[in-house]
Amino acid sequence: MKKWSVGVFASIDAGLGVQLEVARDLGIHTVQLHTPAKTSRTPDNAKAFLRKLEEYGITVTCVFLGFEGESYETIAITAETVGLVPHETRETRLQESFEIADFAKLLGVDAIGSHIGFVPHKDDVKKYSEIVETIQKLCDHLAANGQRLHLETGQEKAEDLLTFLKDVQRDNIFINFDPANLILYGMGNPIESLKKVGSYVRSVHCKDAKPTNGTPGVDWGTEVPFGTGDVDAELFLATLKEVGFDGPITIEREIPQEPQRQKDEIGQALHLIYSIEDKLFA
Ligand code: MG
Repeated sequence: MKKWSVGVFASIDAGLGVQLEVARDLGIHTVQLHTPAKTSRTPDNAKAFLRKLEEYGITVTCVFLGFEGESYETIAITAETVGLVPHETRETRLQESFEIADFAKLLGVDAIGSHIGFVPHKDDVKKYSEIVETIQKLCDHLAANGQRLHLETGQEKAEDLLTFLKDVQRDNIFINFDPANLILYGMGNPIESLKKVGSYVRSVHCKDAKPTNGTPGVDWGTEVPFGTGDVDAELFLATLKEVGFDGPITIEREIPQEPQRQKDEIGQALHLIYSIEDKLFA
């Protein structure tokens, strides 16, 4: 088994991720990309962006879906506004997901990441089967593009996520495992969860968090720099190795309002991950 490629979450235009120049300055060779704005998603822009990637020696490993109107202000607002679960926006967002995936294909990207939203419990038969059907349609579009869907973790417990993956019954659906989200959303211990869903994990976020002092699942925990929260960075990476993970690792630190701090903390996370990798793969 070889060392993982360590990357960072980036944005083409203004967004939560870092600019490509930051990745280049940090010596990073892979990025995940937030959804480029609709106006940026043109064949000409794809060509120009590919030239820049080539110049910087950077590969995009995953494009994440994102939509107008999404808000992570509170957990309740997240449930109402994020992803493909909210009913009012589902059909238009599904169509837009197809467009984003087609743009990603122009960039040569074979993985689409998504917070699809809070999947309703299976007991709610009608709502549950509707979202299963929506994700089947998305998977089928991606399959025609030669792409996979990576579901972002955090909004469901590991067991519920596994049930959902099986119910979708498509062979191009996998997981982007974000250990911090399980703490932020109050959905279980990240290490135990990783062991349960490990065989589905194809990409990973290195993000860290502290649990809420309020009510888990109702009040947000707090995102902190990787290695300073409750994830246990060393155990997390050791567990990734144990479950046989061999995809890219992506540092996620979304404080675009403080770009210098963002760059510094990503640099610290890189250093930490490299030092743990040195021990794990010695
Ligand atoms: Mg994440």
